[in-house]
Amino acid sequence: MNEQQLINNYQAIKSQIPNHVTLLAVSKTKPSEMIKTLAGVGQSDFGENYVQEAIAKINELKNVTANGKPLIWHYIGHIQRNKTKDLAEHFDWVHGVDRLIIAERLNEQRPKNLPKLNICIQINIDDEDTKSGCQPEELTELVKKISQLENIVLRGLMIIPAKNSETAFVKTKQLFDKNRQFHANPQDWDTLSMGMSGDMAQAIDAGSTIVRVGTAIFGARDYS
Ligand SMILES: *Cc1c(COP(=O)(O)O)cnc(C)c1O
Repeated sequence: MNEQQLINNYQAIKSQIPNHVTLLAVSKTKPSEMIKTLAGVGQSDFGENYVQEAIAKINELKNVTANGKPLIWHYIGHIQRNKTKDLAEHFDWVHGVDRLIIAERLNEQRPKNLPKLNICIQINIDDEDTKSGCQPEELTELVKKISQLENIVLRGLMIIPAKNSETAFVKTKQLFDKNRQFHANPQDWDTLSMGMSGDMAQAIDAGSTIVRVGTAIFGARDYS
């Protein structure tokens, strides 16, 4: 894909997203050069899934800005317990926290000279064996405990629905509304991270505030 195609894809997606929804450009497997191009047309938020690949890009793009500000990096991959320090040291956001121990480790390992780490709790909303995420019944206890940790800000919920799930977005919005009362700082509870290239519009209709879009911007990924 050439630079102009990338910018065209980006602007087409951007035009479908209302102002109150953040577009997270999912750049996993894609070169830093493409990230730089999008930063140049104002895209600030980027999502990565693979820790080592992400850290290399974050370091390489340290001095790149979008609209005059540093880029904002979101980790959206599966969280391994032995990788929490890398996440706490390099990212602005970690989506996909699904256990208290992970939040506690991120909290302890967040460097004191950085702003608090933003996190979302992932729910396994369609109860799939292959997906990470807490069960809906576990959510209230996690919100109560995680929202009290000092070095992180618990922003909301993240889901990856099953392929043909019809109810995931609406169910997640209901859980989000219901659990605000259990947050130690309810004003921080403002994020629903849901919607990808294939289901962005439905997610936004249901109340998404961050859509995570890869393929529709960068083209298909090559994992070979
Ligand atoms: C890869 C990925 C995306 C982007 O998916 P596309 O279908 O390429 O838009 C979004 N969210 C998560 C968690 C991902 O791993």
